[in-house]
Amino acid sequence: MSTISIHVMHAGKVCVAPALPFGGSDCNPLKASGVFGRPSNRIWLPVSTYLVEHPKGRILVDAGWHREMSPNGRFDRRAQIRSLGSIPLYLVNQGLLPEGEAVDEQLAERGIAPADLDFVLATHLDCDHVNGLKQVAQARRILASRDEVASVRKDAKARIRYNSAWWEGTGIEFFDWNGTEGPVGKSYDVFGDGSVACVAIPGHADGMFAVRVRAEDGRFVLLFADGGYASRSWQEMIEPGIANDRVQLRASLAWIREQSLDPLCVASLANHDDDVEPHTIKL
Ligand SMILES: [Zn+2]
Repeated sequence: MSTISIHVMHAGKVCVAPALPFGGSDCNPLKASGVFGRPSNRIWLPVSTYLVEHPKGRILVDAGWHREMSPNGRFDRRAQIRSLGSIPLYLVNQGLLPEGEAVDEQLAERGIAPADLDFVLATHLDCDHVNGLKQVAQARRILASRDEVASVRKDAKARIRYNSAWWEGTGIEFFDWNGTEGPVGKSYDVFGDGSVACVAIPGHADGMFAVRVRAEDGRFVLLFADGGYASRSWQEMIEPGIANDRVQLRASLAWIREQSLDPLCVASLANHDDDVEPHTIKL
């Protein structure tokens, strides 16, 4: 039986108010944004990307920050505002990308060029997931959901949150769901054999998906993006302080919990879990 390897990598860090990841459902969104909070109260969380080496192809899940966020590997306010495209977005989340941690730099370290990637799956279109997409634009296919791009110009908040410059020119394709799995009955089967599925988990973002990688024997790894910010999010059902849709978010978190408690679940990973170090999982 062939082996699947999932390499968990950290492409820098993101700085947010603590109420953003763990504020709960009755949190004031303004407090969660941290815009008027004390900078010293902020926390730095990892920004994960995942390289999946699968017998049917090489997949990257999310792209983290672009090198232009930290041109010299150090915190650079002006560079970030330029890359993010807005001061309000910078005030909500700052980034840091030490030298050698950009996704293409980490792939090169493993002897992999962006053109060697069969798929890049963008779980959603937030800056800390797709700001670095241009660094892997030579990948054969770059995919995000059509539901997600449909929300980009929905309202004033969305127009600040998203910046199409992060993905324009990368050849990104927006897919329609081709399956009915998950909390809202929307999924996308990447290889057509159920081994890699993008499962819609809306709430934090309208078109966000988790990636479930399943071995032939049924064991699986769940990469649940920003469906929660740590394992304790689903263990204790702690909602983030900011959500697009609370009802959907709760349904998605309940589904993540159910999947994570499945005896066949080998690992269940949030993108920004402070307790998760870079490592490799074999399936
Ligand atoms: Zn994120």
